[in-house]
This record gives sequence, C-alpha cells and structure tokens, in this order.
Amino acid sequence: MVDRLAIVLAQTEESRVYPCVAVANTDDTRKVRTVANIEICTLGTASGLPAHHRFGQTIILTQHTPDEGESHLILDAGDGASSLLMRHGYDHRRIRSIFISHMHADHHAGLIQLLKTCMHLEKRDELIILAPAEGIPAFKAYLDASYLFEEWLGFPIRWLPLTGLVELPGGGMLRAYPNAHLSWVSQRVTEIPRLRDRTYAAESYCAVYEFAACRVVYAGNLHGPQGSDEMAPFVEPCDLLIAELAHVDPVELGRFLAGRAIGNTVVVHFHPRWDQVADAEIRERIYAGAGEGTIRGDVSLAHDGDRFPCWTVTPHEGHTWQQHLPS
Ligand SMILES: [Zn+2]
Repeated sequence: MVDRLAIVLAQTEESRVYPCVAVANTDDTRKVRTVANIEICTLGTASGLPAHHRFGQTIILTQHTPDEGESHLILDAGDGASSLLMRHGYDHRRIRSIFISHMHADHHAGLIQLLKTCMHLEKRDELIILAPAEGIPAFKAYLDASYLFEEWLGFPIRWLPLTGLVELPGGGMLRAYPNAHLSWVSQRVTEIPRLRDRTYAAESYCAVYEFAACRVVYAGNLHGPQGSDEMAPFVEPCDLLIAELAHVDPVELGRFLAGRAIGNTVVVHFHPRWDQVADAEIRERIYAGAGEGTIRGDVSLAHDGDRFPCWTVTPHEGHTWQQHLPS
C-alpha cells in the first residue's frame, strides 16, 4: 500500500510556501492523518560561511494550539537571527524555547541579540534555552558582559542542558540525540598549549520534536559525507526531516532517505560549493543516491525565508519515545 503525496507549490512575494496535501489510497484513508498545526520557516540556510543570499542557520518552528495560540521554537540562532525574525514578521514575544545544537558560532551567534530584542519588546513569558551543558556558563557570562543581566530582561530564562526528554511550553516534547559532528575536537585541542589541561565535551546534537501527531527531526550538523546514518536509530517515522548539506554529501543523503518512513525532507545548511550548482542538479544527485529505492514525499532545497508546513502524512498509528531511546 503506497501513499501518494500531491505537492502543491505556491509562491509569495517574500518567500516560497509549500503546502503539502496528503492523498491516500481510497481504501487506506484511515491511516493518513493530515494535521497542519506546525510550520517551519528556514530563516537562514547558510553553513559556517554566510553567503550573499544565505544568512547563518536559523529555523523557526511555529505551532498553533487553541489554548496557547502561536508559539515558536527556534532551532539554532545563527548570525542575524533576530533581524530575520523581524524581516519575516515573527513576534519575538512568542518565542517559548530555543535549541542550540552545538557551540559553533554559526548556530548561536544570534542568540544574545535575540534575547536583547525580547527584552525591548517586553516579552514576559518564561523562555527555555536548551544548549550543550558546557556552553551554558559561556552564554550566561556573555549576557553579563553585555549588561544584559537576567534580572533585567523582564522574563525568566530556564537553561537546560541537552539531556533527556523535555516537555516544552505548548505541549511539545523535545529530545536531543548526540552526534559525532565535533568528535575530532577533544583530540585536536590538546595541540594548543594553553588548553592542554582543559577538557572539552565537544557536544553536538540532533533534535527530535514531537507535537500532537507531528514528528520533526532536525539534523543539526553531522560528521562526514555519510553523517546522516547517525540518525538511523531515531529518524523513523517522521513527518518532516530537516537535513544538512554542509558535511553530508547529496548522493549519500539520497541513499539514507531511500525506503525510509520520512514524510518530507527540507535541506538546509548549504556549503558554499553547492551555491555554484543549480538546485535541479543537487536534487538529481540526491535522487541518484537513492538508486532503485524510493524517497517518500518531497525533498526541498530550502532558501532563506521559505516556509514548510508539517503535515502528518506518515501512516503510523502513533509512536512512543520508548521506540527511539538510545540503547
Ligand atoms: Zn558545526
């Protein structure tokens, strides 16, 4: 029984919007749920080197609930994050949580300004910041050094290291899964004499966000061309995968996607070399990597400001966190 996805592409002046319509086989409609209460906007899609048309990595996930209204989860806050939120009409006061995947600056350089803007706009609700444990003291020190004392912000911050399952405001659940993106740092840092006695955990994480019937997987940054394989234990089933193309090779991404229960894939974090290659050719490489295998749904190469609703299209009867706990 194969579900088919009809993808309707629409254009707006500011950004491309991709409403996805799930079409089920007539005798199998019960299995397909179409829930559109989550949307992501890829505010910044560059890798570690910003480009003329790509800001540093910042993704905003918006969910709507009758009780809470609209609330935002920020997935990494790269350079310019606050400006990008303004440019695309997002209300900083609606940011309820922020996930920082790792301490490379292209994933958090916009965090402090984002907090400053929240203060100026008189945000009042608690803000949860999930970050690598060893980065949290550095963020706090940076805030103090910027005269942004937490006592003056006007809203409480709850700093949480990236361990375990966290329930976020609005009812979503987030779990971080460690990956090998920074596995080389601990060894290399010993070559720097002044840091010889210091140990770095060099934490880096993928994130899985689950809300209502939607399951979103965020790759963060991975390690090496086959880095997507690290997500194999927890990626399925998911309705939306946010993949990366700075470290991962497109052919290898296609191989990884083939045959998996992944609704739609949005690719971000473009290495500058891919800016020299047409989107159509990158997509060809991804699909070539899948070989005879089938990639479900659509693979979208995101540009700054694109919006993607997360429809639950995966024909599963619910999933439990127990299925995805690391062994
Ligand atoms: Zn990185």
